[in-house]
Amino acid sequence: MRAALLREYHAPLSVEQVPLPAVSRDGALVRVRACGLCGSDWHVWRGDWRWRMTPALPHVMGHEIAGDVIAVGASVTSVAPGDRVTIPFHLSCGDCPWCAAGQPNLCDRYSAIGFSLPGGFAEHVAVPRAHANLVALPAGVSYRAAAALGCRYMSAWHALRDQLALTPGDDLVIVGCGGLGLAAVQVAVAMGVQVAAVDRSATALEIAARLGAASSHLVAGTSLAEDLRAATRGGSAASLEAVGSEQALAVALGALRKGGTCVRLGLTGAEERGLLPTAVDTLTKGELTLRGSLGCPTPSLHALLAEVSALRLDPELLIAEARGLDGVTEMLQAMDAGTASGIMLVEP
Ligand SMILES: [Zn+2]
Ligand SMILES: [Zn+2]
Repeated sequence: MRAALLREYHAPLSVEQVPLPAVSRDGALVRVRACGLCGSDWHVWRGDWRWRMTPALPHVMGHEIAGDVIAVGASVTSVAPGDRVTIPFHLSCGDCPWCAAGQPNLCDRYSAIGFSLPGGFAEHVAVPRAHANLVALPAGVSYRAAAALGCRYMSAWHALRDQLALTPGDDLVIVGCGGLGLAAVQVAVAMGVQVAAVDRSATALEIAARLGAASSHLVAGTSLAEDLRAATRGGSAASLEAVGSEQALAVALGALRKGGTCVRLGLTGAEERGLLPTAVDTLTKGELTLRGSLGCPTPSLHALLAEVSALRLDPELLIAEARGLDGVTEMLQAMDAGTASGIMLVEP
């Protein structure tokens, strides 16, 4: 099969013929029809995350996969060749206490496709423990829509629906309007939530407004904190940090009213290495909550797919570009140049 290989950090990927991956007894082989390309891939490509994880090179990136099952291991009964599926990027074991509790995103034997295992920038991908890691696509959800859903929409969905439990009419400040933040805007608007969108790019804010954000705020504005308080009627009960920087976290915490909750979805890069200076006294004084959110548990992912199938959410609206394996490097380079906007897909 053909695969785009990361052989050297921050260098063009090498598209080569490689052997078809072997199927384990409990696993499946999936023909990749579409695979999203996101900020996480860009960080891995640049080598930003070598302090966090070091995949063995050459490595196949790609963790936002939709495709068809073409072969299954001897013990697999949950899926069959021909099934249309998506693969949550967080792979789980299916039988630890977290998996049993319906939270496979917190699995004790967590691994991540496209990071610790070969991913979807290839014609085929092997998936272990098919019963836990393959999710059937409803008929109304295209491969492109499914690839666009992971990881940003599914992460935004879990954060807004399960972690913040937002209801219609609630305020939400979204800091960062890249792929993840814009997905969050769309999900929040579909939930009837009043979104105040924050970004350093006027273009990103224009897209947020088009998707239904009630107000847009440039980081550069001198009165940002004041404007956000005005837009959220004195401070928001909820905010979402979708960047992974000190400044973004400060804005997201500063936008909260007393008792408010900030959910962090952004991951830090090579400079921060997971550490962000935070005004923790404001947490104490305002009884604020800062919580993390990772991916999307499978039960909640089914609910998200149902929303897409019923056309209440259309992730294809944000798709900017779809390229074959030979186009992946150019899309990564566009992220270097800061010229990328919207969701980019690879169709191997
Ligand atoms: Zn588990
Ligand atoms: Zn992603």
